Amino acid sequence: MEEIKKQLYFISETIEKIKPSNDFLSIEIIFKINPHKELLESLDLEIKKLFEAFKLSKKSIVFEKKFQNSRCEKPISTETLSDLSLIKSLGSGVYAYAGIFQRLINGLDKHLKNIALSLDADEFIFPNLVSTSTLIKSGYLKNFPHQSQPIYDPNCNIESLRSLRQEIKEGVRVSEIESFNQYYKASDFSLSPAVCYHCYEFFENSIFEKDKGKLTTAMQSCYRFEGKSTGGLERLREFKMREFIAMGEPEFVQYFQNKFINIASKLCEDFEINCQLKSASDPFFIDDYNAKRIFQTGFELKLELLTQFKKAPSLAISSINYHQDYFGNSFNLRLHNGKAAHSCCIGFGLDRWCSTIFSTHGVDPMKWPDELRKII
Ligand code: AMP
Ligand code: ZN
Repeated sequence: MEEIKKQLYFISETIEKIKPSNDFLSIEIIFKINPHKELLESLDLEIKKLFEAFKLSKKSIVFEKKFQNSRCEKPISTETLSDLSLIKSLGSGVYAYAGIFQRLINGLDKHLKNIALSLDADEFIFPNLVSTSTLIKSGYLKNFPHQSQPIYDPNCNIESLRSLRQEIKEGVRVSEIESFNQYYKASDFSLSPAVCYHCYEFFENSIFEKDKGKLTTAMQSCYRFEGKSTGGLERLREFKMREFIAMGEPEFVQYFQNKFINIASKLCEDFEINCQLKSASDPFFIDDYNAKRIFQTGFELKLELLTQFKKAPSLAISSINYHQDYFGNSFNLRLHNGKAAHSCCIGFGLDRWCSTIFSTHGVDPMKWPDELRKII
């Protein structure tokens, strides 16, 4: 239901709030201004399409963990974490971390990096900017135009820049400047929504020798526009992600897909996190929703590691994505026999992992499971 809500907000700016009923049989939609007939008709159609797609995409569970003593009822609130001076909001969906929060993010990331290195992964440092043409090549801009975050360059025009300075001096907020595109124009870059696109770009036009696939790892900040769903540490505009990426022959990549499942399972065991690993699908743009969603869930190409809360919707802390030869074809990653390479990645959303750990075990490391305390 959270996903349906998120998608519906993108239909019109005039939607103020979407409230599903407790039994999920109806949805109340509150508008800022009276909606016109065409908008109501289009909403009706999209809601039907979304529910249809959900009904058709049956989800199966790969594993489930339940810990007896867990007191995990719902995600820890940002107010609680702010009161403890562990986070500070720097705007909607953007946070700074301090104290045990930053120690846990760093410790967790180091732990994950060491796991990747123990599997012989090569580590990379990627920028937070990604060229927009890479996002087009990877299919991201087509599939997720509603989540993309392109960046802007100033126009090289002294008059225009002077007039912008004047508007700013007068106290106008940049987001309210109507003639914004008089001052800035779309650049060739976007804020990167994930880590692995950089990796395919890095290896573009490579040939993988027989039995010589590649495992890589990197951590970076990622950016997604979540619209009105932005909130808490669950839906951030900027978040940190560590990814492991396997590229090469199908057998090599499938071996790592299984490894990634085992790594996710062991982490949840060690850290005593209530969770399920389930087949899932991406929040594709509304036009493409049905077919792609069913394809992904049907072939179990996307698996999501979901934290289970007693009194809140489950939350994805990691995902394992098997892309078959999709990126191999998009980025011309070839095998020795000329066929396109396969790829698979696992992404760990570090902010959500940390908030899940705090929600489950509290913020005092003395009360954490031993394996968890060891990583900070
Ligand atoms: P995805 O590529 O959509 O499967 O996302 C990979 C992981 O990134 C998810 O499992 C989350 O842990 C994390 N993630 C995705 N979107 C957000 C967000 N808006 N805020 C915080 N974490 C996110
Ligand atoms: Zn990825």
